[in-house]
Formats: sequence, structure tokens, C-alpha cells
Amino acid sequence: MRKTSRSGRRSTSAAARRAFATPTPSRSRSSPAASFCRKPAGVRIVMHRPIDGKIKNVTVSTLADEWFVSAQTELETVIPPNAGPAVGIDLGSAQPIVLSDGAVFGIPRATPTERRRLENAHRTVHRRKKGSKNREKAKLSLARLQAKAARRRRDAAHKATTTIAKNHSVVVIEDLKVKQMTKTGRGTAEAPGTLVQKKANENRALLEIAPRTIRTMLEYKCRWYGSTLVVVDPAHTSETCSACGVVDAEARITRARYVCNACGGDFDADENAARNILVKGISSTGGLPGMACESSQTIGRKQEDDAREGGSSALQGRE
Ligand SMILES: [Zn+2]
Repeated sequence: MRKTSRSGRRSTSAAARRAFATPTPSRSRSSPAASFCRKPAGVRIVMHRPIDGKIKNVTVSTLADEWFVSAQTELETVIPPNAGPAVGIDLGSAQPIVLSDGAVFGIPRATPTERRRLENAHRTVHRRKKGSKNREKAKLSLARLQAKAARRRRDAAHKATTTIAKNHSVVVIEDLKVKQMTKTGRGTAEAPGTLVQKKANENRALLEIAPRTIRTMLEYKCRWYGSTLVVVDPAHTSETCSACGVVDAEARITRARYVCNACGGDFDADENAARNILVKGISSTGGLPGMACESSQTIGRKQEDDAREGGSSALQGRE
């Protein structure tokens, strides 16, 4: 997992998910999934949940040596507006996901042992002769390790985003420019960067949280649970005091702690940022949630169509 491309993103080529989608079906069948994807004899399938609603399309994807079939269905549902409080979310600083009410959600990071295993797996691949069967085997074990770590992070992200969307009427997140935030700290030959390793560690921490994934999950889950997702500009959210409103970049004395020089407030830095994000979200919607939100525009007219978008039933098999 050490390999980085020029954009600073980690390359996951060995475990890249490949996928194709089938076209819309022309007629319904009693066993719709089977009509899209005839299962060869001897393939074990794990059905995660029954398929609910009318199937619109089916996507077949593969990751490492596993194959996944997910069906997108259409289902008419009535979604009552969410009655929970509004909440702001800070992503990817000292803690992975921190809410403005102080709740913290963790995203499991690779343990030192796992990191070592991954490095070893990489080394094994490169040591073995190109085009050899043994190299292919090594590639597969590497891909399996990467896929396992990715699955675990995804599972934690799903649990966190479901809890958040289910329990809040308004969810406010920052519009993070992840590429910019994870630029390498190396600098140029004339002006070498300082704290290169520190920046690299921060980058790894942020990429492991996958803010874009979390945002995408919140986008559709907020629709499912009748809540409104508001995306705000991240400017100054971590430098502003959530108690008195003073903007002071020096007040964040450590990654985890914010101490305001103006009012003396002493806060968890992420929670302070999450509260600022919430305030921004509320003011950007004019105090009326749902007025200026990108996901709320699709609620209503398209609600029935989209109600189960992404809510796929899945079949899973192993080669
Ligand atoms: Zn203050």
C-alpha cells in the first residue's frame, strides 16, 4: 500500500474493483436475479437479503477473487420527514468522524501487523518473475489483504452513516477537496517541504477515512431516512471558536484541542469544527432546512424513484 501516484492517492491497482452493468430488463421473471446472471453450476452464492421491488438493472463486479452481483430496484415508499435534531460532521482530523453533539465514530485503520503484511505481500509480488504463475498467486494474496481492509472500512462507514442519517433531520458536512488536502508535503527541489513524513501520515489517515465515500453514503441515506444533507464551504471551520465566533488559527493548539484566546473556551478541536459546520449549514439554508440543499432538491418529485436507489440486494459468490 506504499505505492503512490502523482496525485498523492494510493494506488490500489492490485485490488481494483472492476464492474459492468446489465441493461434494463425487457420483461419480468419469477426469479429476476437469475434472469440477469445465470449462475454456473458449482458456484457458491451468498444472498445477503431478499430482493425487494422491481429490478431496474444488475451490476456484476469483482474484487480480488470474489464476485458480487447487486440489483438496483424500484420500490414505492412514503418517507416521513425525519424528526431528529440537526447535526454537523467533521471528518478526518484527530478523530475519523466527530459530530457536533460530541459523538465519535471510528473507522478502523490498518494495524501495524496488517501494514507489515501488506508490505511483505507487495515485496513478494515484485520479487517473483514477471508473467509467472507464482507472481499471479502473490498478486492474489495481496489483493485479498487489500480487499479485506477495504471491506472493514466500508462496513464501519456504513454503520456510522446509517446512524447519522437515521437520527437527524439535517446533516451538515464540509465540501472537502480531498485531492488538495492530501497533496504531498515534499515541496520542490528549490523549496523542499518541511514535515514531509507528518503530512504523509496525515494523508494516509484522511484517505483511510474516505470522505468522498462517506459523503456519497450520506447523500442516499439522508433521502431514505427523510433527512436533509447540506454541504458547506470548509473555510475556517477548524479555526473559528464555536462559542464566541472569533477566527484564530493559533487557537488550535494541538490536532485535538482548541483553546480560544478571546473567550477562554477549551474544546475538543473536531467537535468545535463540527459545531461550526452545523452553524454554517443552518445559516446557509436560511434557518429553514431543505431550502438550499443539494440532496433535498431531489426529494419530493423524484423521491419515489430514488427511494431505494443504491439499496441493492446482493448476491455474492466465490470463484
Ligand atoms: Zn471563543
